[in-house]
Amino acid sequence: DKEQLFVRYYQQGEDEAYLYKIRLIDEFKSALESENSPLFMNYQPKLNINTGKIDKLEALIRWINSEGQFVNPEMFVGLAEKAGLIVTLTRWVILHVIQQIAQWNQAGYRFQVSINLSAQDIQHEQFVDYLLTTVEKYEVEATQITLELTERDLAENEGLVATRLNHLKTLGFEISVDDYGIGQSSLAKLKSLPVDELKIDKCFILTLDQCAKDQDIVSSTILLGHKLGLRVVAEGVENKESLALLKEFNCDYAQGYYLSKPVTADKLIQWYDDYEP
Ligand code: C2E
Ligand code: CA
Ligand code: CA
Ligand code: CA
Repeated sequence: DKEQLFVRYYQQGEDEAYLYKIRLIDEFKSALESENSPLFMNYQPKLNINTGKIDKLEALIRWINSEGQFVNPEMFVGLAEKAGLIVTLTRWVILHVIQQIAQWNQAGYRFQVSINLSAQDIQHEQFVDYLLTTVEKYEVEATQITLELTERDLAENEGLVATRLNHLKTLGFEISVDDYGIGQSSLAKLKSLPVDELKIDKCFILTLDQCAKDQDIVSSTILLGHKLGLRVVAEGVENKESLALLKEFNCDYAQGYYLSKPVTADKLIQWYDDYEP
């Protein structure tokens, strides 16, 4: 299938860029299979604005390639989606995150952790099975896992996606709509799908402290989310002014560089142990 991909891309022209991507896909495939993996998970804390505590994290994948450089996750996740590798990538993520949660639980650290999914994951026949088998194997509660999907992911194959999400809900997993506010027909989805959390896209949050329009959008999105019984998370909180505004708007959670960048599991715990609300 590597051959096929090569031919397909090569015929499209644009040799250089495609060849680079083919090499990257190939290298990523080995990374997924490697024992001593150049892949690892970073974790970014989410601040519970009401309690001042950190009780949730988002897991974000990282890859250091053979040249020792970080590859942009958005880029290689996108490539993995196109190359039919996303289901394998997500399994890798699920396994590593659940193992990490189990280790933290044993050490007395209890977090609810978000995992990012792609449209293909949720539609995959074995997805629920794999997730369930893995939490059971490591004795992690399903309620400790939140699944983040974007509005775009939720727009594909809606009937099947609704069935899957309802199944996951009954098993105890939580569902979050990521990058909320930049997609299409979002309101209909909030009505019909079993969603627990809204994550307001960072494009509205990054400049929140400087932009009255962002403030209007964010405060009314929080009101809407609450009316619908959802937890609302703001991502991309980079300064204390924005955090203060979110507090004023009654936002539930804040995530962003102001608190911490995504960091390795060890660094996260060091940071967490020192954290004072
Ligand atoms: P996302 O799910 O929207 O993740 C949030 C992104 O915002 C992360 O980028 C995070 O580092 C960044 N971020 C967090 N706080 C701030 C802030 O205060 N300011 C700014 N400017 N950025 C902030 P990252 O880690 O580079 O990931 C980019 C995207 O790649 C993710 O966007 C997600 O779509 C995808 N991704 C990352 N890890 C995974 C994964 O394990 N699985 C899947 N399917 N996708 C992933
Ligand atoms: Ca996310
Ligand atoms: Ca997001
Ligand atoms: Ca995204």
